[in-house]
Amino acid sequence: MKIDVVTVGTELVLGLTVDTNAAELGRALAATGVEVVRHVAVADRAEAIAAVVSDALARTGAVIVTGGLGPTRDDITKRVVAGIFGKPLVRDPGVLQSLEARFRRFGRPMPAMNRSQAEIPAGASVLPNPRGTAPGLWIEDMGRLAVLLPGVPAEMRGLLHEEVLPRLARRVGAAGAAPVIGSRTVRTTGVPESALAERLAGIEERLAPLTLASLPGAAGVDLRVTAWALGADEAAHRLDEAVAALRAVAGSDAYGEDDADLAAVVLDLARARRISLAVAESCTGGEIAQRLTAVPGASDTFLGGVVAYADRLKTDLLDVPGGLLTTPGAVSEECVRAMVEGARRRLAAGAAVAVTGIAGPGGGSDEKPVGTVWLAASCGDPATIRTARRLLPGDRGEIRARATQAALDLLRRLLTNQ
Ligand code: AMP
Ligand code: MG
Repeated sequence: MKIDVVTVGTELVLGLTVDTNAAELGRALAATGVEVVRHVAVADRAEAIAAVVSDALARTGAVIVTGGLGPTRDDITKRVVAGIFGKPLVRDPGVLQSLEARFRRFGRPMPAMNRSQAEIPAGASVLPNPRGTAPGLWIEDMGRLAVLLPGVPAEMRGLLHEEVLPRLARRVGAAGAAPVIGSRTVRTTGVPESALAERLAGIEERLAPLTLASLPGAAGVDLRVTAWALGADEAAHRLDEAVAALRAVAGSDAYGEDDADLAAVVLDLARARRISLAVAESCTGGEIAQRLTAVPGASDTFLGGVVAYADRLKTDLLDVPGGLLTTPGAVSEECVRAMVEGARRRLAAGAAVAVTGIAGPGGGSDEKPVGTVWLAASCGDPATIRTARRLLPGDRGEIRARATQAALDLLRRLLTNQ
């Protein structure tokens, strides 16, 4: 089954509100075996909504529309779509009653304008919305289907899962043999996208009919394989094989699959070896500690760390020799090595990671441009220490996020002897 998605809201096209409904619909529909062919965001303008909804109905015959179901003047989706289907709006006594009951429950009189929300296109089915005042609407006529959902993300999500997906799943067919759109991801870090692509040459043909996407970001490069419209069982089997093939190519550059978080991977590795962790952070300002402590259960492995932003604290709290901070300077291999040694000694940690660098936008030089980051990881007794220099792209936030990921990755590779 194919469907179009239309999200309505002037705030969406102006970029003032991020269109989370479109993303959520895409994921949920794919998992149900319904292929979203196209999604379009339009402003709260009758001609614009009418044009894209008519076009969607002409192309795929089915459309899900979110937004514009409220009681205010800017909410016009229902009237416009009723017009396309040539249906008048009629008052639905059941919807009116539940609206009145809802206002009574919250101890308020119902404003007159909310009565418009009880008007539905003749012949439409009402999808009850316990989370808000706008019900969803299922309008089906002469082989065309329009599903209207409220724009408020929590209301949209509730109606989608409780009312819409079960109905669509029944159309798509029995589970197992029913076609689904499924994806799996192999997560890599520390290797540039193009270098990874070269190693993957030829694999795309082997993966067919699955498709392969390379998705670079601050966390690294995700390799995502997608099965389109295969039966659920066959899709699962082929996706497993594809993940194994991608992992074989990515080797030690892969740190996990699907939603894997590198911080959780590092904690698991340290926990399995009964090694406690500490951090010493300069340019990341605590972001490594934040990533580690965001993982539930981190407390049995992560001790804590030192955010040594000023040179004085690098010396006072991490024993970095003062002279070293003058030459070669705070952003240097010598400094990051002293920081990681200091963190292990001062915090009595079995392993540690340290980072110092220039996040910008100021503070760069020819010799040490913005994005220059030194990393060090240490574990074992006697200590094995690894250091690495990176030149990271992006703005301040991105450089800090990439430095955090690179630090966690250095520790991961040290803990796995890679
Ligand atoms: P509406 O149903 O159009 O009155 O929208 C109600 C609220 O939901 C507004 O705050 C919108 O900004 C928000 N909203 C509407 N559509 C979306 C969407 N596609 N993604 C995220 N938020 C939305
Ligand atoms: Mg709106």
